Amino acid sequence: MVHNDKNIFILTFHGGAGTVTGANFLFEGPKGSQQSIRILVDCGIQQSFKFCDDCNLDTFPYDPSTIDILFITHAHLDHIGRIPKLVRDGFHGIIYSTPGTFEITAVMLEDSLGILTREAAQCGVSPLYSKEDVEEALSLWKTISYHNSVNLKGGVVFNFKDAGHILGSAMIELTYNDKKIVFTGDLGNSPTPLLRDTEIIEDADYLVMESVYGDRNHEPAEERTRLFQTVIEDTVARKGVLLIPAFSIERTQILLYELNTMIEQGRVKSLPVYLDSPLAIAVTDIYNSRIQNFNLKVQEEIKKGDDVFDFPQLKFTYTTEESRAIARTANPKIIIAGSGMSHGGRIIRHEKKYLPDPNSTLLFVGYQAAGSLGRRLQDGAKKVTIYDETIPVRARIETIRGYSAHKDSDGLVSFVESTSKTVKQIFVAMGEPKASLFLVQRLRDYVGVNAIAPKQGERFELEF
Ligand SMILES: [Zn+2]
Repeated sequence: MVHNDKNIFILTFHGGAGTVTGANFLFEGPKGSQQSIRILVDCGIQQSFKFCDDCNLDTFPYDPSTIDILFITHAHLDHIGRIPKLVRDGFHGIIYSTPGTFEITAVMLEDSLGILTREAAQCGVSPLYSKEDVEEALSLWKTISYHNSVNLKGGVVFNFKDAGHILGSAMIELTYNDKKIVFTGDLGNSPTPLLRDTEIIEDADYLVMESVYGDRNHEPAEERTRLFQTVIEDTVARKGVLLIPAFSIERTQILLYELNTMIEQGRVKSLPVYLDSPLAIAVTDIYNSRIQNFNLKVQEEIKKGDDVFDFPQLKFTYTTEESRAIARTANPKIIIAGSGMSHGGRIIRHEKKYLPDPNSTLLFVGYQAAGSLGRRLQDGAKKVTIYDETIPVRARIETIRGYSAHKDSDGLVSFVESTSKTVKQIFVAMGEPKASLFLVQRLRDYVGVNAIAPKQGERFELEF
């Protein structure tokens, strides 16, 4: 293929700019070529409390039927949640992701249908998408493993690299005319207990990166495990209940893995643990079937015969009856249930029962958004309303911040340092403005690279 000297590709930030969620980037070019290709990266929802927020129902600012390829970095809803709508609105190209991302996406989209339909009815609008839209989207999918280069129309080549964020998460490398743009998606807090480290990028010309924790660093991993152990010991000593509102992907599996290790090593006394979330159970099954995605340490443990997500007294509760029966079992015990911010899900019923108990503990291991029940409890509310009843809060409320699945500010800076010699422009996206702008300044001052925080809808011409 002959390329002339100036090949211009256009990059437009249709989502995930000036905000954490709603990732949606359009990359198209070469400008003026008959072989021009239109590529989307991610198609997520804007996450607030309602799926039926106006912005999620908005028409896409481009014609979905003209898009050739949609790449998915990973299966969190803020990266996949609007795919079925994109398909309903006319997209009929190919969707590419890793096999792990495909499997988790199928489970996530189906799971969200119920909430979506209920909330749409409450808001008096039609649901964002239907079961048929989900099926149609999944039928357009092609899975490609990490490091398998694929040639696309017009001479663009793509390749997935491990982002180490959740199972299946990938960075997307697009190469044209020996120049490369990399979309990071979300970047993992490496080293993590289960996954391989984020791969190093050394040859990017352009980088579109996340910045959720662009302005903060995490507490060290050893510290978080020590805190977790202390909370469990305390629950056992007081014969209480440890309630953990957990996110279904990655966080839950890390908790199970750490419990497995602590119990096997005799660091904590064995006690009943309930995983009370059909979604988290389904995702744990996917993790169990994709051990090739784990780091070598975990793969070795599995080869030696350890079932890393299973230990004596762990019970998966599938049905509502099984879930309700947990309340009748003896203390002490641990209940892990969704949703992670106590916005619906089975955790609510457990909170109603155990928040008044001074011997029980509610443990937060994930971000609690302002306005959520989880946030009110985390902020020290002495009473809350659950199912129209006033519930006194006498249980202990604890938070462990170190379980983040994202790189912190130092991690993001050292990720960029590896490619500082080649990179011409860095787009700092997928963060709150404060976090993104802080990271932009750090990258300019300490790494000496061109970095900017693009705005929603902003468009850039890139030379390839
Ligand atoms: Zn994510």
